[in-house]
Amino acid sequence: MALAYLLSKASAKLLKVNFNVPLILVLSVIPDIDLLFDFLLKTEIHRGPTHSVITAILVFIPFFVLYRQKAVPYFTALISHSLIADFLIGGQLQLLWPLSTNEFGFPYINIYDPINIALEFTLFIIALVVMLKTRDLFHFFRDSKLTLILAIPIFTVLLPTFTGYPLSVPILLVLPHLFYLMLFSISILITLKGILK
Ligand SMILES: [Zn+2]
Repeated sequence: MALAYLLSKASAKLLKVNFNVPLILVLSVIPDIDLLFDFLLKTEIHRGPTHSVITAILVFIPFFVLYRQKAVPYFTALISHSLIADFLIGGQLQLLWPLSTNEFGFPYINIYDPINIALEFTLFIIALVVMLKTRDLFHFFRDSKLTLILAIPIFTVLLPTFTGYPLSVPILLVLPHLFYLMLFSISILITLKGILK
């Protein structure tokens, strides 16, 4: 999420467009919706079709037609998940599904590797500082119905990973995880409070 946010921010700045921060974070983890399938249906499709660059391009064609460069930060967020984050950490991605089921990426660095922990924590801190400096963090505290989409990462990624990777994961990775979980939950509660008023 941190990596996607920083890259989307850079692309938005280059193209002089704005973006919705909660939506960027949702798109950045949406490929991992396959974890939910694996968890509920006992399938083994993690890092398969939802991590394919071809899937991402096909899904985004209508948005590029409709919104042109305004769609770029969102597309950047989506593909950074597979092409950069998962590619470097763990690999084994079906990047060209359905054309090929070959797996790509570096399988050598796993989630417990100090290189991953250092990378993830550093990116988390940098993203947090940029979000505070640019006031992007306050997007989460607006009473906007769009923040309800944050329920998607809560229930598909943030909560299921607790069962996939119980707290055996180093604390430096647990803290960002809990931070996003709390931020998204507070954001949804603010919106729900507005709706119920
Ligand atoms: Zn993934």
